[in-house]
Amino acid sequence: MMKIDRYRCGYCGACVTVCPTEAMNLIGMWIEIKDDECDSCKACVNICPVGALELESI
Ligand code: SF4
Ligand code: SF4
Repeated sequence: MMKIDRYRCGYCGACVTVCPTEAMNLIGMWIEIKDDECDSCKACVNICPVGALELESI
């Protein structure tokens, strides 16, 4: 399950662009994450320039 630090995020959209399953969307100043479409590849975690994303195990 993806966790986003909304104070750290600069809404650059890089994570949205790199996500292979289109589980992320940039909607205005909000990142929507559809956990049911995420395959835990961590591409978004690795590309985020400010370290705002974390993959949490459930
Ligand atoms: S971990 Fe992979 S599939 Fe999940 S939201 Fe990030 S880029 Fe998309
Ligand atoms: S890559 Fe990081 S800073 Fe950019 S929109 Fe995604 S979570 Fe926010």
